[in-house]
Amino acid sequence: MGKKMEKYARSWNLYNIFPDIKSVEFKKAFKYIEDETINLTNECDKLPDINEEKTVALKWENFFKKLENFKLESGLIAGYVNNKISKDVENEKLMILMANLSSILIKAAPVEIKILSKLKKCEKKTYNTFINNSNYLKKIKFSIDENKKHSNFLMDEKREKLSADLSIDGIHAWSRLYDKISGKLKIELMEKGSIVKKSVSQIRYDSNNRSIRQNEFFASLKSWDTVKDICADALNHIAGTRLTLYKEKGFKHFLDETLLKNRLKRESLNAMWSSVSERKSMFIPFFKSKAKIMGVKKLSWYDISAPIVSGKIDFDCAMDIIIKEYGNFNHDMGNFVKWCIDNKFIESENCSGKRAGAYCMQFAKKNQPRIFMTFTDNYASMSILAHELGHAYHNYILKDEPLSLRKYPMGLAETASTFGEAIIGNYLLKNAQTDNEKAAMLDKKISDAVLMLMNIHSRFIFECNFYEKRSYGELTSDQLTEIMVSAQKEAYLELLEDYDPLFWASKLHFYMSNISFYNFPYTFGYLFSNALLKIYKEQGKKFAKTYNKILIDTGCMNTEELLFNNLGTDITKKEFWNKSLDLIEDDINQFIKITDKK
Ligand SMILES: [Zn+2]
Repeated sequence: MGKKMEKYARSWNLYNIFPDIKSVEFKKAFKYIEDETINLTNECDKLPDINEEKTVALKWENFFKKLENFKLESGLIAGYVNNKISKDVENEKLMILMANLSSILIKAAPVEIKILSKLKKCEKKTYNTFINNSNYLKKIKFSIDENKKHSNFLMDEKREKLSADLSIDGIHAWSRLYDKISGKLKIELMEKGSIVKKSVSQIRYDSNNRSIRQNEFFASLKSWDTVKDICADALNHIAGTRLTLYKEKGFKHFLDETLLKNRLKRESLNAMWSSVSERKSMFIPFFKSKAKIMGVKKLSWYDISAPIVSGKIDFDCAMDIIIKEYGNFNHDMGNFVKWCIDNKFIESENCSGKRAGAYCMQFAKKNQPRIFMTFTDNYASMSILAHELGHAYHNYILKDEPLSLRKYPMGLAETASTFGEAIIGNYLLKNAQTDNEKAAMLDKKISDAVLMLMNIHSRFIFECNFYEKRSYGELTSDQLTEIMVSAQKEAYLELLEDYDPLFWASKLHFYMSNISFYNFPYTFGYLFSNALLKIYKEQGKKFAKTYNKILIDTGCMNTEELLFNNLGTDITKKEFWNKSLDLIEDDINQFIKITDKK
């Protein structure tokens, strides 16, 4: 007997993006990018200063359109190479190609600087007339407004250019150094009597065998300890560079830049975290109950996200549930998922040579998504699949907007994905047959909440304390450890037995040179999607329309405005966040009720 026939394809099709990197089509596209980078830089130099003449507005319109086309083409080619590498991480030819491509694309940086500096110089009245002189500029006004806001924090052109050039050997180099070190780091483990070496990405505390988790945790700490001083250097210099630039650019606080990029007000962020802090004690009974189930006095760092039972589900089955449940929420969303899988837009094969993690990307030019992940036949994989399809649907809904209105901040991106996950989480809970199954599904949901409200919170507290202290000088690895553990204790209400002292070294997110404070948007997206779920439960089917409208507005509104216009809520007030937290409390109460019975 052969293998069971699979209903859905497990590997993606990239052929309709480009036949191959050696194909004529690919070479032609590469050449276009090379030439257009130079053309755009030259044209941008000749772009007139903004004034109230109509011809000037039309010249800008023309330039923006060209730039949009360039972004569509470069997104196609960079996305394609990135996808190829994801499935073939050790392919050096692809790596070199990517490096070449990056060095070409970085040459386009002066274009953005030039645009911002011209916007900065322009007075409000002139600016308004300028926008009103072209229908196209009027249409993408929100995006130009955003640029104008960003331009308030622009240094003069010369210094911006120098800073961009230096970043290649500065902040980005520290980030690349970290990637290299963490990529090469091996964790030595005893498995069945012999030593095995695992890579960093293979360490996951998701086994339901505690001694395996414990073993991996301590082995991992031992390995990270050998590189912690280099990591501390990288972290110090990434943060140090940022702090220097913030001062030069006129940011008053180290959170200002990330808030600006997230289109979020400080009051909203504060309201979110203070609600989370005030309501966190609701997790205490959950921690106690889970510890009892695991037969330990207190949970440790490596226990929190471990499942209490390990359930299995295959890809076909997971896919069918997502198609059906997304379809129940909104007919179009179900059809969309079907379209994705039928056209082989999803890479889920469990094989070697693939990059760790999962992502969703959009080939904006072709209006096609690609989802990358490794499906390992469990519910966690199913959640990831639902999450990435949530992102894909978000991009799909935005497909008819101009490119510059298809950009949304990370917190809003994570709303769409987490909402997708929540639909599936709810379905699984509703369909659990026995108390054991119900407890397992609730445990998964609550563990996700712990990740969002405690783990992510500890990252945020750590970074705030670190940036505060870093402004007075460099910190040693021991000091970083101290700040990390105290942040974890605060965020987890001292409920754990062991903490992860080297989390500041092992967490990639702290070392990303392009994004700072890559943490609170997750919590934001999670709580926002919870709130949406609550409304869906109240309104039923008719909510689907509002949901699509919210997704479209993510590209053309500030976060506060988006929520106020669509839902009439004020997220600078704790009330909104508390409502969302109620749902988690319900889950915890249900979990305690079931597990107490035993
Ligand atoms: Zn995501």
